[in-house]
Amino acid sequence: MAVLEEPIKGVPTIKNYVNEEWVDSKGEELDVINPVKNETIAKVRMSTKDELDAAVQAAKEAFPDWRRTPAVTRARYLYRLKELMEENFEELSRIQTQEHGKTIDESRGETRRGIENIEVACGIPTMMMGDSSEDIAAGIDEYMIRVPLGVFGIIGPFNFPFMIPLWSAPYAVATGNTVVIKPSEQCPISQSKIAELVEEAGFPPGVWNVVNGAKEVVNGMLDHPDIVGITFVGSTPTARDVIYPRCGANGKRVIAQAGASNFLVIMPDCNVPGTVAALMTSFFGNAGQRCLAGQNAIVVGEDDRFYDDFMEAVTAAAKKIIIGNGLDESVQMGPVKDAQKKERILGCIEKGVQEGATIRLDGRAPTVKDGYPTDCFLGPTIFENVAPEMKIVTEEIFGPTMGIIRTKDLDGAIKICNENPYHNADAIFTSNGKDARKFQYEVNCGSIGINIGIVAPMAFYPFSGAAGSFYGILHTQGKEAVRFFTESKVCIHRWL
Ligand code: NAD
Repeated sequence: MAVLEEPIKGVPTIKNYVNEEWVDSKGEELDVINPVKNETIAKVRMSTKDELDAAVQAAKEAFPDWRRTPAVTRARYLYRLKELMEENFEELSRIQTQEHGKTIDESRGETRRGIENIEVACGIPTMMMGDSSEDIAAGIDEYMIRVPLGVFGIIGPFNFPFMIPLWSAPYAVATGNTVVIKPSEQCPISQSKIAELVEEAGFPPGVWNVVNGAKEVVNGMLDHPDIVGITFVGSTPTARDVIYPRCGANGKRVIAQAGASNFLVIMPDCNVPGTVAALMTSFFGNAGQRCLAGQNAIVVGEDDRFYDDFMEAVTAAAKKIIIGNGLDESVQMGPVKDAQKKERILGCIEKGVQEGATIRLDGRAPTVKDGYPTDCFLGPTIFENVAPEMKIVTEEIFGPTMGIIRTKDLDGAIKICNENPYHNADAIFTSNGKDARKFQYEVNCGSIGINIGIVAPMAFYPFSGAAGSFYGILHTQGKEAVRFFTESKVCIHRWL
């Protein structure tokens, strides 16, 4: 099958987008790698403090007029942005594949899910409504309105470079705030392309800004007195040790969504072909680089025959996955983001072996379609004899691996899930409604799948997770994002 054309040509330097201007940064330059060929496809600069300050200042100055703009008018800018994204759907998707490595179908899914957040945010006139009560005392009414707060900082991870900032930005601007977005320095191109469409949609200057950089820019945002709140999606160490405490110390609102180690529970009465297919996408989709990815499967019951047949079906399906360039539509799994990440994942596999897990399928030396260099490629790796206390369970791997744990009964499986503080999303595969209900009721994570392996909430539901991987009270997406980006104002009115 032919490889689709790459949209990014040459090696462009990604600029900042500030106050409706495209600005060259003077900071240190970093390569943006396309992992398929392990080659540089763009350069991005790490913005200086002055450059960040200029973006925050532009956003601050844009805020008073933007907050006064009626919500229906603000929504119209988002409608236009959505239309432009639809017109550029394929290019936006191919950019993600080129800068990240995921398959084109995974990128198209990401584009769709990103756009859905804009669609939901277009409902802002209704979502932002307040409440009112008549006659709280004779002739006195009370009402509550929701008001925006100012400039918000939005910090993204590398693994969903298009979609994740859109879990926040559309709601932030729809509610009347202005934003400074800091994409991952590893995948900055998608947010730059979105900013081009923001410009074309005609948003007023300073409402939507993009500043590139790494941790220095993040630290600058966390300490900036004119940024009122932060949304962050990234790894647990960054969320736990940097974002949450520093926002607390600086009195900023914060949502920080972090890493995961998720479980898929397999009951012996599951539909085997459907379950195996779900496991393939859950564990190996996006090459495992997903906070909702399965990391370990828990096979319940003592029936060795079921276990052996199930494992044979899982292994056979994993062996068939076609690995290669995501712009080839026949490819089912792309590379991981870069050679360092591959090294880290190889280290996790090695640790698993040292701790006593056995390798049933070894993905460390994969066959890559069309002979691309294997620098950033891994195949699916399946471990057996995994124990809940092993590092391949307690720590996030973020690569295409599947551990298999066995337990006697469902209670044991639920216990394993709940003892791990990082299970953002767990799933059960069963044809027994009572067991499914028990699992849904007793498992304490934010997203639960029943006969579904990837539990990505639609844009009108909150994107929540487990206690250990979510910091802050509210979540991104939908109504909860609207609450995060607004403050309630209660007014009491005596009619004279
Ligand atoms: P990361 O924490 O390395 O980086 C995320 C952002 O923080 C980037 O913009 C980066 O520039 C910045 N950053 C990195 N180190 C920093 C530091 N020391 N101080 C300040 N800023 C810093 O995360 P990543 O590798 O880009 O993303 C992958 C992680 O994100 C995984 O752990 C994954 O599970 C998680 N993730 C979570 C969710 C969720 O909703 N829970 C969704 C997607 C990804």
